Parts: sequence; structure tokens; C-alpha cells
Amino acid sequence: MSERLRIAVQKKGRLADDSFTMLKTCGLNFSVRGDGLLARVKNLPIDLLLVRDDDIPNFVASGASDFGLVGENVFAEEVLSAKQLNLKVLRRLGFSRCNLCLAADEGGLIQTLNDLKNKKIATSYPGILTAYLKKNNIVADCVEMKGAVELAPRIHIADAICDLVSSGATLEANGLVAFDTVLESEAVLIGSNRELGAEKQEIFERLLSRIDGVIRSKDSKYIMLNAPRAQIDAISKILPGSDAPTIIPLATDDNLVAMQAVCTENVFWETLEALKDNGARSILVLPIEKMMA
Ligand code: ATP
Ligand code: ZN
Repeated sequence: MSERLRIAVQKKGRLADDSFTMLKTCGLNFSVRGDGLLARVKNLPIDLLLVRDDDIPNFVASGASDFGLVGENVFAEEVLSAKQLNLKVLRRLGFSRCNLCLAADEGGLIQTLNDLKNKKIATSYPGILTAYLKKNNIVADCVEMKGAVELAPRIHIADAICDLVSSGATLEANGLVAFDTVLESEAVLIGSNRELGAEKQEIFERLLSRIDGVIRSKDSKYIMLNAPRAQIDAISKILPGSDAPTIIPLATDDNLVAMQAVCTENVFWETLEALKDNGARSILVLPIEKMMA
């Protein structure tokens, strides 16, 4: 029987849906049902290990899983506090973005990093926080809490907190305001230094090239336009993050060409206006579903 690659994924929570969507966009055919621990991918030799996000770095470090999809915050904490030094980030995946921030009472005595000297800071990320304070030469006390960190100042367990923020609504509801960012986090693909067998390595490389395609196509657009021949250079310079565009003569007009290019950055209205100011007409911007180098 052939070997199956194992990838640990959060079963339920803020990472789960986007992780499943990304893997499905990579062409993996699976369904997640009930409380099973394993989802079998039907069309490739891959199994998904469905677990709590906090367990993912450990599973990858120990070899229970070959790879994992996890928040960079959880990965970094595990590396710093449990010294899982055989783990590495292989790709940043661009979803589940959030910031690990320092926050304190709005209008209170703590408003900058320096104000934290000799204060107590509540956090679920003691490893990341300790390293950050050390880097900034701040001596302060970390109070570790597993959850409800935002309540710590109100019940006088701590003077400030270090917690994940995305919209800031939870902070605001607790009268807190963020004053510094410790880590900008997003979902990452993690692996270990462990050797994979040849079979697993081949499956992984196939998957990785599909993941790269998904990451690249997300922000990429295909742009098509007509332009005066004399403006080809000027227009090529404006196209955001594109290689040399394809240029096609138009049968009806010798002075006009059609230009087509893949833009690897977002195409904003301002770019379209600049293209138009340089003589481009009939501009179309199309989404790209899949890409392979
Ligand atoms: P589990 O039951 O798997 O342990 P959890 O409750 O610890 O889940 P979630 O709240 O689902 O975790 O968050 C998972 C990850 O999603 C976080 O570690 C972080 O990387 C990311 N995330 C994105 N936005 C936020 C946010 N506003 N608050 C917390 N985590 C966020
Ligand atoms: Zn968790």
C-alpha cells in the first residue's frame, strides 16, 4: 500500500474554514463530518488530521503529522516556549490574519512600550511576549492566562494585556486600547526537518506547487486592453507587477495593438485611470482561477 501524506488542520474555529477552502482549491476532494479525527482525501494519497490548533505544531514536530496549517502566532509560541526547533514555516498563506497586540486601559497610565516597565502583562503567549520584551529591554512580569485575557486589567490581575486582535471590537468592549503590535500573524504551512520518504516527498511537492498557484492567483488579475502602438512602453510600465505583456496586432487598425498581461498585484481604479490617460481603451480586468509556473 502506498504511503499517505498527513496534514494537520484545525477542526473547528477561525482557521478551519479557510484551511479547508484552500485545500479544496488545490483540488483535494474530501469531506469533514461529525467528530472524526481523520478526513481521507479521495483523489490523492493525503489524510487530514482534524485537531485543535494548539496541538498542530506538536504533531508536526513529533512526526504524528508531516505538515500542518496553523496560525503563525501558535507556531511562534510553540517554537519559543517549547523550543520545538525542528519546526519551520514553509509558506505564508494569507488568511486568518490578526495581530498580537499590547493593550491597556484607554486613557490610563500605560500608553507606550516603555510604560510597561515593572508592570504585569496578561497573555496566552508568554514565549512570544517574553522574547519581545527582552528585545526591547523591558523588564516586566508575564501573567499566563489560557483565555479571557481581556478581562485581566478589570479584575486587577494585570496592568496590561498582550492578545490577538483583528477588528478591535473585543478590546473596545473592555475599555482597552492597543498601543503596540508584537506580531503580525496569518495562517502558515509548517513542516519539520524530518526526511519524508520518496513517495511522500513527491506528493508533497505536487501539493506545494498547487498551494503556490493558489497563493499567487489570489491577488493576480488578467488584464486586457487595446492601445496605440506608440504607447506600448508607457502602458507596460503602468501594469502592476506584470512580466512583459503579450502584444497582438489588430486586424482592423495598424496603429492599434491588443495587450494582455498577468498582474501579480491588485489592480486599482487608479491604475485603470492611468492606463486610460496613456491611450488604453476597452480595458478588461479578469480574475484568475488557477496558475502554474
Ligand atoms: P481550538 O479549539 O482549535 O483550540 P481556538 O479557540 O484556540 O481553537 P480560534 O479562535 O479558532 O482558536 O483561532 C485560531 C487562530 O485563528 C488563531 O490562533 C489566530 O491565528 C487566528 N485568528 C484570526 N483572527 C483572530 C482573532 N480575532 N482572535 C483570535 N484568533 C484569530
Ligand atoms: Zn486553540
